[in-house]
Amino acid sequence: MKQTLIGLALCALLAWGVWRQPPATAPIVQHREIFALGTLVQLSFAQSVPPQLMPAVEQALSRFETRWSVHGDGDLARLNQLIEQQGSAELPQSLRPGFVIAQQACRNSGGLFDPGIGALVRLWGFDDEDHFRSAPPAASAIDGLLKARGSLCTLELGPRITPPTPSTQFDFGASAKGRAVDEIVALLRARGVHDAIVNAGGDLKVIGSRPDRPWRIGIRHPRPDAGQEIIASLEVHDGEAVFSSGDYERFFIHENRRYHHILDPRTGLPTDLSQSATVLHRSAELADAAATALFVAGPDDAAQTMQDLGISHYLLIDAQGRQLISPAMAQRIETSE
Ligand code: AMP
Ligand code: MG
Repeated sequence: MKQTLIGLALCALLAWGVWRQPPATAPIVQHREIFALGTLVQLSFAQSVPPQLMPAVEQALSRFETRWSVHGDGDLARLNQLIEQQGSAELPQSLRPGFVIAQQACRNSGGLFDPGIGALVRLWGFDDEDHFRSAPPAASAIDGLLKARGSLCTLELGPRITPPTPSTQFDFGASAKGRAVDEIVALLRARGVHDAIVNAGGDLKVIGSRPDRPWRIGIRHPRPDAGQEIIASLEVHDGEAVFSSGDYERFFIHENRRYHHILDPRTGLPTDLSQSATVLHRSAELADAAATALFVAGPDDAAQTMQDLGISHYLLIDAQGRQLISPAMAQRIETSE
């Protein structure tokens, strides 16, 4: 009887031990997904996910999206409407920090990144998937908007803003995703998250590391038809963001030519110097703006533009598919070509 009791106790202990162990198949990294910012936002955790975190993330992303969208009746959409109707508008506090940071990036990039090109983006139909064109707009329409547009670089950011012409519209498609990722990372940290990645459709920021090694991410091949999905991989450390701009994200083909969503503010046309541009920086917002500027700059102006923006880690794939890798980035990156 005594032996049976000891045997039962041992079995119970063993069972308890097994129960306490994570199942052999438990993933080290857990994923959660939300559709927001026009893309799939994936959160990966190398730890347990704090309770009630995901509803808070969802709410923050939804508020952010309304605030910065050019459609609907959020703050930016209303500001654009007021400028169109009255020529000026109050700059809401909710938008001011984003305007200030983007203005600095606009100036530092010599206007290659310029959210003041909203009317041109709309003319090209890249503001909304439902507006996609099958042919480019008339050259006269592009010229008209180019002549009448105001730049964020020179805008006076007082309590009210008054662009030089009422046909000026603002579009933060090139930096708002970065701002959103910075915000979500701050929210995660405030709730005790110490090891995670916030990945918004391939643009991401990292907190901490995986259990025993740094996070490692892949950089998308701009021409995956060539047979590979990933052109390079990169080690990313706590607090670093990696953002890419590419001609493969939104485009249409007309008469065998690719017309994509990244416009040269000097010509009003999609730039034809690059296939993709990737930037690593601690601010996701700046990384996002800088990746767009790098894409527009192309290989000849890349180094100067990145220096002026304070970016040391970048990779540009030019129109011919050649890779231009900055010395600092070369220390981090493993290319597969
Ligand atoms: P990204 O994918 O970050 O390069 O952002 C591209 C989006 O930013 C486009 O869909 C437009 O809404 C807007 N955009 C396009 N060209 C520019 C530019 N040169 N400067 C600022 N925003 C731009
Ligand atoms: Mg960008």
